[in-house]
Amino acid sequence: MQLRSLKQADLKGKRVLLLVDYDVPASDDTRIRLTIPTIEYLRQQDAKIIILTKRGRPDGHIVENLRTDLVSQKLQKLLNRPVTKINTTIGREAESAVADLNEKQILMLENSRFLAGEGKNDPKTAAAMSRLADLVVNDQFSIAHRAEASRSAIAKFLPVYAGLNLLLEVKMLGKLIANPQRPFVAIIGGAKISDKLPAIQNLSKIADIVLVGGGVANNFLKAAGVDIAKSYQDENYIRLAKDLMNHHQIQHPFDVIAATSPKSSQTCTLNVVDPQKSTCPDDNLMFLDIGPDTIKLYTTVIAKAKTIFWNGPMGVFEQPDFATGTKTIAQAVAANKSAVTIVGGGDTIAAINKFKLAKQYDYVSAAGGAALDFLGGKKLPGLLPMMIK
Ligand code: ADP
Ligand code: MG
Repeated sequence: MQLRSLKQADLKGKRVLLLVDYDVPASDDTRIRLTIPTIEYLRQQDAKIIILTKRGRPDGHIVENLRTDLVSQKLQKLLNRPVTKINTTIGREAESAVADLNEKQILMLENSRFLAGEGKNDPKTAAAMSRLADLVVNDQFSIAHRAEASRSAIAKFLPVYAGLNLLLEVKMLGKLIANPQRPFVAIIGGAKISDKLPAIQNLSKIADIVLVGGGVANNFLKAAGVDIAKSYQDENYIRLAKDLMNHHQIQHPFDVIAATSPKSSQTCTLNVVDPQKSTCPDDNLMFLDIGPDTIKLYTTVIAKAKTIFWNGPMGVFEQPDFATGTKTIAQAVAANKSAVTIVGGGDTIAAINKFKLAKQYDYVSAAGGAALDFLGGKKLPGLLPMMIK
């Protein structure tokens, strides 16, 4: 896939509507930092910069704590330059604020989702947005799986170019799909199989093996005939999981750490191939982490890989009793310096930050659902307007 890059655009003196994802919690500004290279490039090229972001899901209503004031202040601090913030997204006030902009200056609009038309990909809303700019630069990979007026319908009115952060994300994730170095090992964990199944389906065709963990793995264990008791699972996916395992190299855990609840400190090990190694009473248990023998197998496979993609914790890592699987896998991926290592997912990033390993990977993707859809082989509506082939 090739995208029209902002480097191909003539930017001098142009009004650029820059789309970003500043939907960040108060404690974290990663997503703001990721857009700094694009903003600096636009400034070097003497563009007038008009920033548009969504925050939360206000769906056409004004919600005071979802205004963009806080993120505009954070941006101002990170750039160490003034950022003017206005309280409207489109219309006369916004248009006159844009008319006052000089080259290199930065204006932040109000939350795009305060407009009812944004989430509906409404052409009239897009037309009103297009009156603010000469062209659009989209640096918003993390929400590219959803069509909205600012990045989809707007293409009817203005040319759309890809920002540097978005280009990097597509390039790194693209490495996994096109000609990955082999062996390619995909590791998929996390809570819900419904979120991860399309990616597992597609990755199981591309990767040499998919190692599953976390709540996702419970469904594969059940499909393999294991009694998973009270464990987190989704009935609707058991048959699909079974089908996938029959046709592809998918490895599920064969021992797990279990307890009656994630809050319990009474843990035991359950081994489905070697019951002698099990320490669990036959109780109503939940499987909450991968076990020691599974960790051994997974780390051996990881050590031999030349390409690794990891999304989703191996267990309830927020509780120290169930964090060992996630931590050991995080360390094993970090330790393989001869592989291209790509890690993604909101909670997975929280985990690698907690273990202070985030700098040890080749690429950490800030996009959750969009990255999984991309790896799942879906056409992302947010990328279509920039696609040249
Ligand atoms: P990401 O945000 O990285 O994509 P997910 O949102 O899919 O990851 O999943 C993260 C959550 O999954 C964590 O909060 C973790 O506690 C939970 N989880 C992991 N393993 C299990 C399990 N065996 N049972 C229930 N929840 C789990
Ligand atoms: Mg998550």
